[in-house]
Amino acid sequence: MPWNFESTYLQLPENFYHKQMASAVPTPQKVITNEFLMETLGLTPNDLEESVLCGRKKAPGSEPFAQAYAGHQYAHFTFLGDGRALVLGEQVSPTGERFDIQLKGSGRTPFSRMGDGKAALGPMLREYLISEAMHYLGIPSTRSLAVLTTGEPVFRETVLPGAILVRVASSHIRVGTFEFAARLNDINKIKALADYTLERHFPEIKDSTNCYVELLRQVSKRQGRLIANWLLVGFVHGVMNTDNMSICGETIDYGPCAFINSYNPSAVFSSIDRYGRYSFSNQPSVGLWNLARFAETLLPLMDSDLEKAKGKAEKALSGFTAEFQGAWRSGMGLKLGFSDVKDVELKLIERFLKLLEEHRADFTGTFRDLSTPAFNDSEFFKNSTVVDWQRDWREVLSKNGASFEKKQMFMKSVNPAVIPRNHLVEKALEAAHQGDFYFFHRLLEAVRNPYQLDPEHQDLMAPPFPEQEEGYRTFCGT
Ligand code: AMP
Ligand code: MG
Repeated sequence: MPWNFESTYLQLPENFYHKQMASAVPTPQKVITNEFLMETLGLTPNDLEESVLCGRKKAPGSEPFAQAYAGHQYAHFTFLGDGRALVLGEQVSPTGERFDIQLKGSGRTPFSRMGDGKAALGPMLREYLISEAMHYLGIPSTRSLAVLTTGEPVFRETVLPGAILVRVASSHIRVGTFEFAARLNDINKIKALADYTLERHFPEIKDSTNCYVELLRQVSKRQGRLIANWLLVGFVHGVMNTDNMSICGETIDYGPCAFINSYNPSAVFSSIDRYGRYSFSNQPSVGLWNLARFAETLLPLMDSDLEKAKGKAEKALSGFTAEFQGAWRSGMGLKLGFSDVKDVELKLIERFLKLLEEHRADFTGTFRDLSTPAFNDSEFFKNSTVVDWQRDWREVLSKNGASFEKKQMFMKSVNPAVIPRNHLVEKALEAAHQGDFYFFHRLLEAVRNPYQLDPEHQDLMAPPFPEQEEGYRTFCGT
């Protein structure tokens, strides 16, 4: 089954999109394509024609459009929209799943503001690699079907090769899409968007008594689970503006994101996040703040009495915290081999994280070490406070069921050996800029199997040297 685009999004009122074609580019050329995802989508290599992937030739059914949305960027409201992206349409997979196919870097749109509508090769490859890593870590995420170079220069601080990323998402409906809808001052328009979202992502609740309260509850729960998952693998999204929070609960918009190495709850990598609004440990509270903006847009649909609507919204929003805490507790428990987390286990989790922080120990590596027989060899485990912790940990572990070795085997399946560490990502991108994709593919292969270390990938496990880590900064990638 080749491309069979549908465009249900275009059923929404016209305010929500702007139909247009991608800009022409001189020499579109694929530099990487994702065979696994291609299959999921029911496509073959023949379908990945450059002319289609750069948006110049319409595949059957495609009616490309830029989405209108708004958002709170660092807490300030702004009207936004796809300034350098176009949705080609929705591809329905052989299993009946619906995916948006979106081009990022496809030229100017009415929403481009001062931007050039373009993207550079480095950031698009970075999104490709990290979104794939998230997917294989088991964390809901948009994915990447291909990256193309355009043959045209992109002017940033330096001149860079231009590129287009072909992104695949369950949808691109964001909190910011609802904020946009709410500001159209027409209850029918916010209702149209909410009904469309229910139909597309939450069909099981669309007939419930107050489906809009239920929508808020379900979105809050998905976000709670998602952000817990980020914390469990040391992921910092970096730019959790409301326009970058997807309603369906996928990680979206890989700009200044990064994985932490040594454990530091206040880690911030983004060059523009001066006050740490989007730091590692702030992510749950920012998530809730964003959901409160979402809730505000739904109030008129929840109840004609504003006070009553607020009460219902607050209750639904509490689903976020409950889900986040539950997922975080049980996830952290599993990382330490506990199948159930009560107070004793929770204390051990907290003590362990404190020790990681005090010793600036590597987050991913230390959890992985705990899952392997030889963990006592590393320096961290020789500290007397860590020895004490270990004794208490083993004692609690020994109280339930299987042997220590069996538990360690299980822990390996939840503590990744390989994550896309910043220094490795940089190395892969530098070589790719020179046209050498060997290391990029190697790293990609390793992150696609994060829980099972191939001995050939041993070097991809190690944390960076301090000088490689010091002052690491990420950029929004515009
Ligand atoms: P982001 O921080 O990537 O979520 O982008 C925020 C907004 O800026 C979105 O509306 C983007 O479409 C827009 N944007 C980012 N880069 C560019 C660019 N180079 N040209 C036009 N618009 C852009
Ligand atoms: Mg964005």
